[in-house]
Amino acid sequence: MTQTITVIRGDGIGPEIMDATLRVLDAMNVGLQYEFADAGLVALEKQGELLPAATLESIRTNRIALKSPLTTPVGEGFSSINVELRKRFDLYANVRPAKSFPNTKSRFPSGVDLVTVRENTEGAYIGEGQSLSEDGETAVLQQKVTRRGSERIVRYAFELARRTGRKKVTVVHKANILKSTSGLFLRTARTVAQEYSDIECNEMIVDNCCMQLVMRPEQFDIIVTTNLFGDIISDLCAGLVGGLGLAPGANIGTDAAIFEAVHGTAPDIAGQGKANPCALLLGAAQMLDHLAMPEQAERLRKAVISTLEAKDSLTPDLGGSGTTDTFADAIIRRL
Ligand code: ATP
Repeated sequence: MTQTITVIRGDGIGPEIMDATLRVLDAMNVGLQYEFADAGLVALEKQGELLPAATLESIRTNRIALKSPLTTPVGEGFSSINVELRKRFDLYANVRPAKSFPNTKSRFPSGVDLVTVRENTEGAYIGEGQSLSEDGETAVLQQKVTRRGSERIVRYAFELARRTGRKKVTVVHKANILKSTSGLFLRTARTVAQEYSDIECNEMIVDNCCMQLVMRPEQFDIIVTTNLFGDIISDLCAGLVGGLGLAPGANIGTDAAIFEAVHGTAPDIAGQGKANPCALLLGAAQMLDHLAMPEQAERLRKAVISTLEAKDSLTPDLGGSGTTDTFADAIIRRL
């Protein structure tokens, strides 16, 4: 069976890491066909828009996209193309695994294996109702949390736990202070948790959670939280296990899902052939999981891990002298 996916090669190091990733996917023979679509700076230059209608249509039709980092130029309509994509397709779940990898400059080269499930559509991060008083002395922001939004993200986290054999969901909140918004999230989470008696559930206030993550990250399995807390916690988790070069992410909705590397376009190293393709490759592994190909997803992850273990052709950010292409070749050899 062939599945067509939308492929967005992106800006900066985007095309380099995407080409490497597609080479690895091709070597796996997983039956994917690629429909290439532009977004970001490259789309603005070629088609005069950051997010062309044809790109949106491609994602709508294929329902799955693999996306490289994009540049959102200041003053071109959106504050962020990524945020715009999440809005357009109601991609309510941001799913970011963080796992210890060998031979990375990491505080935790072993023991961490967790997933942050971040609500992606509401809360303070959305920036609703932002205003600054005329004298520039007072800034205001609205924070909206709904029962529906909370329920579907918490349910997603528990379903993910069941599907992937994970044992515990930690609900992260600040309901002691943000009694209305975080309070509603927590109360809703408690109700949903009752339906999943097979999965352990605990609650943690966000500040304590950050400290616990730094001191004893091995206690976490799945973390579910609201948008802004999830934004911060997921980067913290990436930092625990070797940084953004190894951090993949998925944005998942009911009608579409977009898989990506968490890092940006890295303009400082673009075009030099030395970008680390691992984050996008691990994003592609998440995509294979989503496409109900868990064995292939695991095969890809194992090839990445054994290449890191062997220190074979690692890119400079990982302390090696390999290139994006030689690193991808080394991964292909281990598939
Ligand atoms: P953007 O404005 O798109 O967010 P940025 O440079 O501010 O770009 P990142 O792209 O996340 O932010 O890069 C932060 C640092 O990490 C840069 O020094 C970059 O070179 C490095 N970096 C990011 N991704 C990679 C990668 N895949 N391989 C190697 N280095 C990377």
